[in-house]
Amino acid sequence: VLLDLVETLCELIAIPSVNPMGKAVAGPEYGEGRMTDHLEPLYQRMQVPYRRQVAEPGRENIIAWLEGETPPTQGGKLLLFAVHQDTVPVEGMIIDPWRPKVREGRVYGRGACDVKGGMTAMLAAFARLAAERPPGMPTLVLACTVNEEFGFSGIDALRRSWNGAPDAILPRKPDAAIVAEPTGLDVVVAHRGVIRWCCRTRGQAAHSSRPEAGDNAIYKMARVLQVLERYQWEVVGQLGTHPLCGPATMSVGTIHGGVSVNIVPDACVIEIDRRLRPGEDPRQAYQHLIDYVAQAPEITFPVEHDPIGLEAPALPNDANGSIADRLASIACEVSGRGTKVGVPFATDAAFLAAVGVPTVVFGPGSIAQAHTVDEWLPIDELEQAAEIFYRIGLQLGQPIR
Ligand SMILES: [Zn+2]
Repeated sequence: VLLDLVETLCELIAIPSVNPMGKAVAGPEYGEGRMTDHLEPLYQRMQVPYRRQVAEPGRENIIAWLEGETPPTQGGKLLLFAVHQDTVPVEGMIIDPWRPKVREGRVYGRGACDVKGGMTAMLAAFARLAAERPPGMPTLVLACTVNEEFGFSGIDALRRSWNGAPDAILPRKPDAAIVAEPTGLDVVVAHRGVIRWCCRTRGQAAHSSRPEAGDNAIYKMARVLQVLERYQWEVVGQLGTHPLCGPATMSVGTIHGGVSVNIVPDACVIEIDRRLRPGEDPRQAYQHLIDYVAQAPEITFPVEHDPIGLEAPALPNDANGSIADRLASIACEVSGRGTKVGVPFATDAAFLAAVGVPTVVFGPGSIAQAHTVDEWLPIDELEQAAEIFYRIGLQLGQPIR
């Protein structure tokens, strides 16, 4: 089977696969289950083997593969395409998120850009290679993973799937991987990582008519926040800069304190988001901020820091191997793009790079259109991406010219 790109993308958009983002939400739009169920018959029609891999209860990666001419255990190359099934939530969208619209060379809908467009391009290239079975092609694995937008559990399960166990899904570690994300057809060879954690001040509850009897945790947090604002603007950016990804950053994203206006609050909690430069040590970055807060003159009380709750590594650009060069030259041939760049956001790619797989990030659409209220994808980039994925699949088994 060969896939019509716009039709396939519209089908994928019409299947909600909203990431619950760690919240206890229920509803038919949440989770990746229906997306996984939709992909399964597609692989059956392509007549390729596939497996479902449980990443978390009810959330499954689906991994299909095309045998190359030489098996990967006998010297053949093994190329991995990875793309996430989930999307961010749809609150505030000004278009119908799941009723895709095609207009003026664009496809609109939740996930059009991040990252069902990239998935469509990978599926189409995979289907074409499955139909043609060109001589000399590498073994190609297409993994559609879960939970990229919050927690990265899908890619984590995937990278355990070449552990050599008898039921291992991949026979060995891939030689190279491409992770689909909207990169505007440039080749992302480096990106920043992220750590997040909760920081807490404690006080003493009292009736609000007698504030002197209590100890206001929100006032304490206000002082912590002033220190953190100073840290954000004056300190963290001075810790160093990466040539492609720029300096590290820090941001406070949420604050919760108090239970009622007539009670002096006994606790206040904020969430801290610290972006890591490639090469930065997450523990050191975490400790540096904690020490800065503790040593600030206005902090005369204990400040509690939870352990790091979410950690996504940075993607360093020193281990992308030849995949970056090959992809860049193909992307340039097909689209005139293909510049090797660094980006500020974290992706699944770093999890593969961290276990020694040369990995780059690539796909159609602009990151500026991801997660937006009227998310869309340009159709010409979708077509070019499908061609580029097809050519890299074709060429990876061959020596560089
Ligand atoms: Zn994405």
